[in-house]
Amino acid sequence: MTLSLPQHYREILVGLGENPDREGLLDTPQRAAKAMQYLCHGYEQSIEEIVNGALFASDNDEMVIVKDIELYSLCEHHLLPFIGKAHVAYIPTGKVLGLSKIARLVDMFARRLQIQENLTRQIADAIQEVTNAAGVAVVIEAKHMCMMMRGVEKQNSTMNTSVMLGAFRESNTTRMEFLQLIGRSK
Ligand SMILES: [Zn+2]
Repeated sequence: MTLSLPQHYREILVGLGENPDREGLLDTPQRAAKAMQYLCHGYEQSIEEIVNGALFASDNDEMVIVKDIELYSLCEHHLLPFIGKAHVAYIPTGKVLGLSKIARLVDMFARRLQIQENLTRQIADAIQEVTNAAGVAVVIEAKHMCMMMRGVEKQNSTMNTSVMLGAFRESNTTRMEFLQLIGRSK
């Protein structure tokens, strides 16, 4: 017999030495299961469904940047949150993507079990695939609860990851312009 997600959480409480029948914990398995399903709802979404035709013809070929996109994800190694910001840029070649769609794509990949490096790559590849851009840049800065609350307990360390595609990879000037615009270079 396979257990439901709430039943698994009940077993976790037992495994932790808790009494799942005490008053404060009675509804915890249900609530925890629901919360975890919400934090992982990105598995039920797809790029196509999120973009949903919000691609517009444009002759703009200047860099489009969306800065400071709030990011909440779960590390796949410890199932603990990592929280931070994503900065995304691309150079259109005839098609631009609705701005809110970029944030929603970030969210879709973040709401899965992740490591920050893969998350950064998946966002960049998705933007590239959807827009056929001349270049895509994604930088993520995040704090990992698995570092802050356990193990080394490094409270203030932020992890930075970046993926540069096309023009951002090939042209120093383009990359520097992006890093300057997101405040990541002097
Ligand atoms: Zn971790």
